[in-house]
Amino acid sequence: MADQQALDEVVTFTSDLIRIDTTNRGGGDCQERPAAEYAAARLAEAGLEPTMLERTKGRTNVVARFEGTDPSADALLVHGHLDVVPAQAAEWSVHPFSGEIRDGVVWGRGAVDMKNMDAMILAVVRAWARQGVRPRRDVVIAFTADEEASAEDGSGFLADQHAGLFQGCTEGFSESGAFTFHDGSGRQIYPIAAGERGTGWVKLTARGRAAHGSQPNRENAVTRLAAAVTRIGAHEWPLRLTPTVRAALTELAALYGLEADLDDVDGLLEKLGPAARLVEATVRNSANPTMLDAGYKVNVIPGEAVAYVDGRYLPGMEDEFRATLDELTGPDVEWEFHHREVALQSPGALQSPVDSPTYAKMRAAVEEFAPEGHVVPYCMPGGTDAKQFSRLGITGYGFSPLKLPEGYDYGAMFHGVDERVPVEALHFGVRVLDRFLRTA
Ligand SMILES: [Zn+2]
Repeated sequence: MADQQALDEVVTFTSDLIRIDTTNRGGGDCQERPAAEYAAARLAEAGLEPTMLERTKGRTNVVARFEGTDPSADALLVHGHLDVVPAQAAEWSVHPFSGEIRDGVVWGRGAVDMKNMDAMILAVVRAWARQGVRPRRDVVIAFTADEEASAEDGSGFLADQHAGLFQGCTEGFSESGAFTFHDGSGRQIYPIAAGERGTGWVKLTARGRAAHGSQPNRENAVTRLAAAVTRIGAHEWPLRLTPTVRAALTELAALYGLEADLDDVDGLLEKLGPAARLVEATVRNSANPTMLDAGYKVNVIPGEAVAYVDGRYLPGMEDEFRATLDELTGPDVEWEFHHREVALQSPGALQSPVDSPTYAKMRAAVEEFAPEGHVVPYCMPGGTDAKQFSRLGITGYGFSPLKLPEGYDYGAMFHGVDERVPVEALHFGVRVLDRFLRTA
């Protein structure tokens, strides 16, 4: 059970981990080791035997196993990344790596994404060890490096090189789910992530005839690229409902007393008001042009022009995404994946069942401590480490419970300025996570 010590520890651990600056600037510029050592020490104090793993010096991952009472049961994985995105101190009200606790709120980079969850996991398993509690299923704990960049030094490395540590794991739990979403009219919704869109960052290359800018040129690479970029940016992607999004729309419609008319999803989204935000980014694929690079002088037509597009596709829709890009780019522009997430199921994206016993137990754990809340499934528009672990056959859910006050903009905290988390929210997280992991 989550005792007073567990409630105190989750706050201390969140604050301590924030103070260990694990900024990931990409390109390998990050050191997770001090945070990994901190987490490993807390596990070792509780009698666990954590393993430290590095593919690259200083990029440390930690894995440990808490043995359950039923050796025939499948194991669970709970994981959290140790790195954070950069923060500009000048923009913040408090120093982003101070871990300051002010008026019942813990401030700093990682307070929500996701040193809070790392701290919750530590507090829960330490309470179990203290009280002689054992969960039914083995619980594998993983703290990873490099989630905010390529995951090559983190979950990707663990999945590729250390699959044995995850033996028996069938389901995994990590960031972005079971938080309070206030709809503005008094309803409190707790979305649990049961799927992720796939990430496919695309590079476009247009080639043409390099020439003097004063001459007629029907093979202008810049013109060709611009036309393709315009077509991609303006494309209306067709509606595609995955099982998770279908369930989300049906349950939200019921909550608002609306008819779940899935033949008119855009109409339904309009009627859902603010709650539409939980689904609107995941009813279709998307491709947003984000970077352009061409030319070096105004009177010279370059032979090549390059653009980048942030592409995201729903589970099962990668082939359609590829075919659409073939069409939109046309014969004069080549495209390739510059970066593409790899997952085992539904190539590149994740789809997790919402009718499973495990999903029901997550729902029950939230409802026990937030009886006023309405649990609904949702699909994450972006991606997490869950995709890497899916290659080991592990079904991923976003479940890092937080009970948040009205007016607190959870979404804005991710990679945002003044990232912070209320102490009460951390306490709720420990209680719910403890209940769920013990009973799952
Ligand atoms: Zn994260």
